[in-house]
Amino acid sequence: MNTFRTKSIPLIYLLPFIMLSYILLSKVSLFFTSMPEGIGIIWFPNGLLLSLFILRPMREWIWIVIAIIPAEIIADIQMFTVFQAFQFVVINLSETMFSAYLLHKLSPEKETFNNIRYVMLFIIFALAINPSISAFFGAMIYNTQISSQNNFIAFWRIWFFGDSLGILFLTPLIISWSEYPKKFLFTQHLFESILTDAISIYLAVELFSIQFTPSVLPTTPMIFILITLWVVYRNGMRSGIMIGFIISMIAIYFTIHHQGPFTIFDPVQNTIYIQEFIAAMITSTLFFGVFLRQVNETNSLLLQSNTALESLAQNLENEVMQKTAQLREANEKLTELATTDPLTHIHNRRFLEDNANLSIAHAMRYNIPLSLIMFDIDFFKSINDTYGHQCGDNVLISITKSVKTRLRKEDVFARIGGEEFVIMIPQPLEQAIILATELKEVIAALTIPTESQPISCTVSMGISTFSTHLNKLETLLHDADIKLYQAKEEGRNRIVW
Ligand code: GH3
Ligand code: MG
Ligand code: MG
Repeated sequence: MNTFRTKSIPLIYLLPFIMLSYILLSKVSLFFTSMPEGIGIIWFPNGLLLSLFILRPMREWIWIVIAIIPAEIIADIQMFTVFQAFQFVVINLSETMFSAYLLHKLSPEKETFNNIRYVMLFIIFALAINPSISAFFGAMIYNTQISSQNNFIAFWRIWFFGDSLGILFLTPLIISWSEYPKKFLFTQHLFESILTDAISIYLAVELFSIQFTPSVLPTTPMIFILITLWVVYRNGMRSGIMIGFIISMIAIYFTIHHQGPFTIFDPVQNTIYIQEFIAAMITSTLFFGVFLRQVNETNSLLLQSNTALESLAQNLENEVMQKTAQLREANEKLTELATTDPLTHIHNRRFLEDNANLSIAHAMRYNIPLSLIMFDIDFFKSINDTYGHQCGDNVLISITKSVKTRLRKEDVFARIGGEEFVIMIPQPLEQAIILATELKEVIAALTIPTESQPISCTVSMGISTFSTHLNKLETLLHDADIKLYQAKEEGRNRIVW
């Protein structure tokens, strides 16, 4: 509360306007009476008063009081004495101030007619309890000072309903306008609004102007409850109250001119009936309006949280996907690291062990030949000893490089020990011998620079070939190893198969 547009306008500028409005609303209300005593069917000024007390901070209330007292006296002076007018204004001010105070205390900040709880409080205090109390004092004044008839209950009831209806019409409208000044009346469905209004006005004039007898009942005033509910549904609470207001004014106009369905009994009874009709119509409008507002608000909140959840889920999914990709990459790198020789960057023994048996099984199944060349550098220890370990590394690297260029994609080349290598090729023994011979010569022709003079080295090779006996990596390696040993024995720089 107290956060609306009117707050930015200093009260002092509003006061003359407030006074004028109060006088005008009093005049209108006094005009709409069917009773000689002048109790209005609808008492609008209290709707204005309550709106003011709701909208303005409490410290400004005193100025409203100071402005309203003379306004009431000016408005009432034709019909009542100054003293009576003063009593009325005190009743009106107390009632509306007390209602505003209770609404302010009992409802959380910023809640107004968007909120069912607020509307309930509004109905209980501003429409029911407080007007009924002030009606008690009002009726007492009428009974003791104004009317010759002793008709306390009727006065009380009419005063009560009059206050309630005035508040019911004006307060939600004024508050709603100060909350959303830009949303004008017929913004949503202009053509439909005009049509509905025209139909409503036509029906209201028709219905309330007929000379009513219980045997002639073309339709019932209750049809207007349906119409106002429809307008609320299409255009919101404010439009519903507006159309309800127009219908009510037409109803009251004809009733005080003794026409329509509310003129069956005496003025007091008629007044009570029309008040009840208006109360039923506008209360249902208010309730349905706030209900729709709250449903819409809840829907849009749900929608918001849904989109938020969706984007959260999407983010999570993206993150999971990203993390999975990172993990896969890291795994691949790890596997590569674990199966690669760090010095020469060719496969290591582990890779051979992991993959060779698969190749062997494949070869066995499809009858593909498979040979294994194992080679070991001759007198490598002396290279290390003479030229240093670094030089030995260089020898390993350059031998690997030149061997690699002579291999095919399907060949597997691995360093299985310090200076021992294995090449597995899907070829028969003859082809393996040709390749081994070529490699042996290539290696022998290599010159590796050292700090003193370029050096070269030779290798000894042993070749084993896949057969029914040699059908596992282990046995193939063993066989190749024996042959390599034999090559060493026979004088090195040679191939044994
Ligand atoms: P043989 O002709 O009988 O093979 O004689 P060899 O000296 O080569 O004897 P052996 O194969 O037993 O020698 C292996 C040597 O290789 C021992 C070790 O110092 C050396 N070595 C093993 N791994 C590396 C390495 O990563 N770098 C270097 N620079 N030397 C290595
Ligand atoms: Mg060796
Ligand atoms: Mg060696």
